[in-house]
Amino acid sequence: MASIEAVRPLCAELAEIRRDLHAHPELGFEEQRTAALVAANLKSWGIEVHEGVGGTGVVGVLKHGNGAGAVGLRCDMDALAMQEASGVAHASTSPGRMHGCGHDGHTAMLLGTARYLSLHHSFNGTVNFIFQPAEEGRCGAEAMLRDGLFTRFPCDSVWGMHNRPGLPVGHFAIRPGPAMAGAAFFDIRITGKGSHGARPEASVDPVLVAAQLTCALQSVVSRNVPPAETAVLSVTRIAAGDAYNVIPQAATLWGTARSPSMATMTMMEESMKRLAAGVAAGFGATAEVDFRFLFRPLVNVPALADAMADAAAAVAGPQAVDRMGPLNNASEDFSAMLEVVPGAMINIGNGASAELHNPAFDFNDEAIPYGVAFWATLVERQLPQSVME
Ligand SMILES: [Zn+2]
Ligand SMILES: [Zn+2]
Repeated sequence: MASIEAVRPLCAELAEIRRDLHAHPELGFEEQRTAALVAANLKSWGIEVHEGVGGTGVVGVLKHGNGAGAVGLRCDMDALAMQEASGVAHASTSPGRMHGCGHDGHTAMLLGTARYLSLHHSFNGTVNFIFQPAEEGRCGAEAMLRDGLFTRFPCDSVWGMHNRPGLPVGHFAIRPGPAMAGAAFFDIRITGKGSHGARPEASVDPVLVAAQLTCALQSVVSRNVPPAETAVLSVTRIAAGDAYNVIPQAATLWGTARSPSMATMTMMEESMKRLAAGVAAGFGATAEVDFRFLFRPLVNVPALADAMADAAAAVAGPQAVDRMGPLNNASEDFSAMLEVVPGAMINIGNGASAELHNPAFDFNDEAIPYGVAFWATLVERQLPQSVME
């Protein structure tokens, strides 16, 4: 059985790989070097490798025994378009590129898991190691799905893991059911009628409509979402006009809407469209709403969230596992895979590091043995060897 002690001998090399990835961050769908490194390592360990899945994605396939069961373990590989200010020796060598979300660590931990399982063969069935590109808003999960991920590499279940700053190293947190928000961006284009600033009677003032509509939109969550549930609708920009003495022709609002419930996301879209049309019409203007889903809500299948928590407890002790972690209003594109194949996503403690997407962030290499032992234990429990073997 996998354990911290059993995976420890691999971890020095994995930390080196992690720091090398950190020094060479690549944006979504540009992960050429990262994907090549992943593929070369998997091949050197005798694992079947499929490159170019959904752009720069890589899938490693490891079979053992005669079991028909198959699991998918998914990590993300991309970095962020931001300037690193961590001051660490292995800091980014690419200006304006940074592994600010720890995907370097996720990649190293999944590589370590592949290495461990290729050495120990402590399972019966098929493990698909899914190295996903472009998680940070570039829809890499959907690209892999469009490229036939789960038809080419069938999985009974699919699993994800993300580091969490503030959660101690060696600790895990998961939440059954809705765990992370869905997210949409929206633009509302209001068209009125421009005129001289001194002749409002000749205008249909889109600035007034924009102001009224911004206020009215604040009723969408407060008057429609049950108080025990959660959603956010923020207007983050209002734009109109160029001159002191011109009532403009048009105004634009933009912003973001988020909720862990798909039904609430749909309700917000419909309510916004109704309010925009109604408020604008009331002033004699028109309004068009462009509501764009970026991420679906991330929903963990409760029984599979339990299985993840049990595997984490087997590795780190039950006291180190929070089985009802906080609802997270951030988003994650692994949700797209969970809509197709049942599974769950867990958080692994990154200790007292800077926040995700902060210029001082760095993945904590102390977490690597916990992550690898956890992944391997999950596989051993999902694809158990019979006692006869
Ligand atoms: Zn991120
Ligand atoms: Zn991330």
